[in-house]
Amino acid sequence: MTQNANPIKHQIYLSLPNDMYTQLTPKRVESPALLALNHDLLHQYGVESDWFEDVEGINFLSGNGDYSSSDPVAMAYAGHQFGYYSPLLGDGRAHMLGQIQTRDGNYVDVQLKGSGRTPYSRGGDGRATVGAVIREYLIGEAMAGLGIPTTRTIAILSTGENVMRDYQMVPGGIQVRAASSHIRVGSFQYAYAKSGESGVKALADHLIEHHYPELSDLDDKYPALLEAIGNRQAHLIAKWMLVGFIHGVMNTDNMSLVGETIDFGPCAFMDEFKAGKVFSSIDRESRYAWNQQANIGYWNLSRLAETLLPLFDSDDEQAIKIAETRLQPYVSTFQDAFQQGLKAKLGITSDSEIAEDLINHALPTLEREGIDFTLFFDALTRHAQGESDAQLLSLFSAPDVGQAWLSQWEQVRDRGEDVISAMRRANPALIARNHQVEKAIDDAMERNDFTLFHRLAEALKTPYDVSEDNRDLQAAPEPQERVLRTFCGT
Ligand code: AMP
Ligand code: MG
Repeated sequence: MTQNANPIKHQIYLSLPNDMYTQLTPKRVESPALLALNHDLLHQYGVESDWFEDVEGINFLSGNGDYSSSDPVAMAYAGHQFGYYSPLLGDGRAHMLGQIQTRDGNYVDVQLKGSGRTPYSRGGDGRATVGAVIREYLIGEAMAGLGIPTTRTIAILSTGENVMRDYQMVPGGIQVRAASSHIRVGSFQYAYAKSGESGVKALADHLIEHHYPELSDLDDKYPALLEAIGNRQAHLIAKWMLVGFIHGVMNTDNMSLVGETIDFGPCAFMDEFKAGKVFSSIDRESRYAWNQQANIGYWNLSRLAETLLPLFDSDDEQAIKIAETRLQPYVSTFQDAFQQGLKAKLGITSDSEIAEDLINHALPTLEREGIDFTLFFDALTRHAQGESDAQLLSLFSAPDVGQAWLSQWEQVRDRGEDVISAMRRANPALIARNHQVEKAIDDAMERNDFTLFHRLAEALKTPYDVSEDNRDLQAAPEPQERVLRTFCGT
């Protein structure tokens, strides 16, 4: 392979039933320019960066390329949005260019987001803003740095065209998104409605072949698939919650079936802890609040299970029983993962009654005291590592309240080296703070200044270990910097 060859050489979705996608090319744009390229990610895949920086690559990733020897598609899916079913959503502004085969043999989807209208656009313009693609880049890097499975961004481009958002013209952007899969709960809902059992079987077989090959020889592979998807989703949501992440729009079309975080438009990491925290401006009923996410995961899996029933048993009642049995483990898997994670964050291994009491009251204490989630666990970790308790105590409303909590913790904490290093791995010092992300976007949009964007993208790769130069990025927002609402802004 020459270094300048296009590495997007596969299109695995063409083997799905052809009502699952439309073949089409992305739409041309005025004057595309590369804003950022994720060299580390390409390196991880074992792919040279040169082609992506070349005119040919930039054109291909913006809608201005030669697509004669590739097979871009827009994918069809349905979905429950905020609980209400839409029979046809689909890629309204995305084009799946195909897949890169990575050095370890896996396929990675390469999808353009913001690449023009498709048959699934409905009233939308098919475009994205530079701001939204910057946001998705940074959050994806933050999640990856935290070890949380996620879609990521290979590159972001500006289109040289403006788009209208909230009665304003803003610069248009394209995100080159990488994902292990773009099959969603909503893909199954669409297949089920469109062609029933045969459509759902094709999707399930695709998932098993590419993402759950260990199930392929089982007699009960379809029920096992539901359970395996639930298992990954339970671990994913526990991981989100343990770093204070709120996805924001967990509609069934935004839930991947391979356990990766996807479509996190109005997502946020919370600053001060609040169990019912919501940022998204469109989540008016707090359906997707921090503490609702595990329940919603179950709700979404139940919608998936409904589509799989014909594969489980020809007898409806029997099929429903099988679904219920296979959904059940999700609940305890989530609870165990969350509880274990919380114990790791607190550096506690004891199961004593007093330890349990502290664990159960830790988060309510943070909420009552209005304490920053990340700063608290970072300060606790550093104290466990031998630093003074001054920083930790300063987070409480009054020193005696902090002192009382700390002495209870001292009684139950584990002092083992391994527990303390596990505590460090459970407690990031750095998260993608809303106010920093918003500032990076403003700097880029208003002054074409990408300094903060690049600083954040770099620093978020190692969130457990912050260099002296990046200490300022750890700070919680000042009152005037606080971001109270996030917008899709897409
Ligand atoms: P999202 O909220 O980004 O997950 O999108 C929900 C649905 O709306 C998907 O079908 C998207 O493709 C579609 N959509 C979102 N924004 C646009 C847009 N600007 N143009 C066309 N379709 C869009
Ligand atoms: Mg979506």
